Amino acid sequence: MALKTERSQHLYQQALDVIVGGVNSPSRSFRAVGGETPIFMKKAQGAYFWDEDNNRYIDYLAAFGPIILGHAHPEVTQAIQDTAANGVLYGTPTEKEVQFAKMLRQAIPSMEQIRFVNSGTEAVMTTIRLARAYTGRDKILKFAGCYHGHSDLVLVAAGSGPSTLGIPDSAGIPVSIADQVITVPYNDLDALKEALHHWGDQIAGVLVEPLVGNFGIVPPQPDFLAQVNQLSHDAGALVIYDEVITAFRFHYGAIQTYYHVEPDLTALGKIIGGGLPIGAYGGRREIMDKVAPMGPMYQAGTMAGNPLSISAGIACIAALSKPGVYEELEQKASTLVQAIEKLAEQYNITLTINQMKGAFSVYFSDEKVIDYEGAKRASSEQFAQFFRYMLAEGVYLAPSKYEAWFLTTAHQEVDIQFTIQAVEKAFQKMAER
Ligand code: PMP
Repeated sequence: MALKTERSQHLYQQALDVIVGGVNSPSRSFRAVGGETPIFMKKAQGAYFWDEDNNRYIDYLAAFGPIILGHAHPEVTQAIQDTAANGVLYGTPTEKEVQFAKMLRQAIPSMEQIRFVNSGTEAVMTTIRLARAYTGRDKILKFAGCYHGHSDLVLVAAGSGPSTLGIPDSAGIPVSIADQVITVPYNDLDALKEALHHWGDQIAGVLVEPLVGNFGIVPPQPDFLAQVNQLSHDAGALVIYDEVITAFRFHYGAIQTYYHVEPDLTALGKIIGGGLPIGAYGGRREIMDKVAPMGPMYQAGTMAGNPLSISAGIACIAALSKPGVYEELEQKASTLVQAIEKLAEQYNITLTINQMKGAFSVYFSDEKVIDYEGAKRASSEQFAQFFRYMLAEGVYLAPSKYEAWFLTTAHQEVDIQFTIQAVEKAFQKMAER
């Protein structure tokens, strides 16, 4: 089936003129999957969206994570409409912010005190500043391949060895900033020990995606998180969990409450806004006391805690608290994963899948993926072929081999079966090449 994309192509040409690269976030471009025109969507409902050429897709992107209830969920939509009718921004405190902070703290008790911000980037950026303010140290340790937004400090890649400092991963980041960042491989405790041995007394915070979502879904090895805590604390550094993807994705709570390990600071985003812009950070009261107006660390926001984002977030989190939600997401993902593995065998396609509950990632690789280097070795070319065949069959995957498939409560059995048929057609074509 050839996909009709005339209107998307037309809009993309216009977009290229006025919007840099034609997209408002580089991950929306199709450059990683062959450089074709990205599809312009005009409408979304439940598990589907429709593009400008009226093609329908089953959506496994879920807007890179937030849309866990599917599109235009009635309770979230109602909350947004009701709130909008009473004014969208006050610049004053509101009762709903208090209500929402209490809901989050109940689900993630290490967040004794919370501050709402507007994006995951802001949330992580501020936890780093806070770790520095609290410890009086400057350096940050992070893990290769984990993505933490686009603030300067976290756009730094590994240097040439575990005990070297970082190099800027983007133009515009001074070497003096990259110098403050140490990067070690995820799931590699020896590298972490070596780096802490070298730099431990200068490190303010150890920042980690406790379960990785940014080079596919990569769970921590047993004991990894407990050791990260122990080793970091022994060195006098704070532990910061970036749970922007993971919070409320796998169970009602965060990865820290799933594995029973507590960081000092946590950053949230994505799902907690029900699809509207949001971020939040929090942690122990004695640390949060450093934040203005209580303490000397400054952080602020005109839009922070705005009524629309907070109301959408409350409605989303309330819907996720209903019994059976996460079991159902997992069951749908498992059906897909098992079918994909079986079809891959049938069509002689080599792949490996990492699944965590209702999310998974497919690597065209013959090895189990436990770190960024492993994810990089998976075939980009095969992923690009697979992506394009799936798109033509009406299944929208994230346009990068490093992203996950996200199940939503809106996906129905018929959608799962439709997707399995699409996978079979895609594998058939890949096998013929
Ligand atoms: N942290 C993680 C783990 C993320 O996946 C992302 C976004 N993909 C961010 C931070 C940044 O969030 P935002 O795009 O809302 O700034």
